[in-house]
Amino acid sequence: MLHKLSFHVEPAAAAVPGETEPLSVAVHPLVNGQRLDPSGRYFFDVGLVLALRAHNAAPVDFFTCSCGVAGCIGIYEPSELRATADTVSWLIPTGKHGVELVRLPGAGPLLQFTFDRSEYELVLDDLVRQLERVSSSHGGRGVDIWACSEGDGSLPSLGARIAEERERAVAFYDREAWRRQVFGDLLFSELEFTHPNGYIGCLPLENLAYMLSSADHFHLSETAMAHIESVIVPSFRMGIERVTEMARTLAWTAFVHQAFRSERSPVGHALGHLKSAPEWPAVSFALVSDSRTFAP
Ligand SMILES: [Zn+2]
Repeated sequence: MLHKLSFHVEPAAAAVPGETEPLSVAVHPLVNGQRLDPSGRYFFDVGLVLALRAHNAAPVDFFTCSCGVAGCIGIYEPSELRATADTVSWLIPTGKHGVELVRLPGAGPLLQFTFDRSEYELVLDDLVRQLERVSSSHGGRGVDIWACSEGDGSLPSLGARIAEERERAVAFYDREAWRRQVFGDLLFSELEFTHPNGYIGCLPLENLAYMLSSADHFHLSETAMAHIESVIVPSFRMGIERVTEMARTLAWTAFVHQAFRSERSPVGHALGHLKSAPEWPAVSFALVSDSRTFAP
């Protein structure tokens, strides 16, 4: 059964002559005519929804804190936007670390709203027009619908801003999808090393893959992606010996520079000057699941 999506745009405060900064406009989603967050506890990230349109995106936060950080308001279980040729679905966890929303009849702990795709896109187009009308009824002032917006008054038109956000969001979520597809369970694996002095450090296998491909973590080239996909990850799957062998092709200083301190590292043990040793020390290796601690 398909759901019906609509939006309620909260009327902006009355125009004050001389004001020029963008109008803060709250937009609330309604499913089958019911507002999902009637208490207004969360910030609905309509900017992201408009930017993504019908594009797969996970993890994503439809509802978040007004600062844009979902964890800030107790949301640690991310949602997902799933698009097919005919439908667009929002999957929103509502458990302890999820989003507290109104329960629609028959809904379980994971809310799944599925909308007809062409209807969904029409509803978004209509919302953009509605926001543009808000803007023109306030003397052409911009509308601010973004979490953590700079609000500097120099926003480009709403359409231009959405297009800009779309480019950024699509690149980000395509990369996320690639990471999950290529690394899979390896995303939670790390190469742990124990230094002869007792210090235990670790390097996520994903980071090791980027180092081995000499790739810029943030701007992976297609060549680097293909190399990671067809050579590095299949080698990692051969086990600890192969992973160790590959890690050792890197310089110790480069490797240790990217590594984290493990939670299991005994207090008082540090690498200090040992980080700049010219050769690999006699470290022992193990593959573990995520155990890093970040320096305070
Ligand atoms: Zn916050």
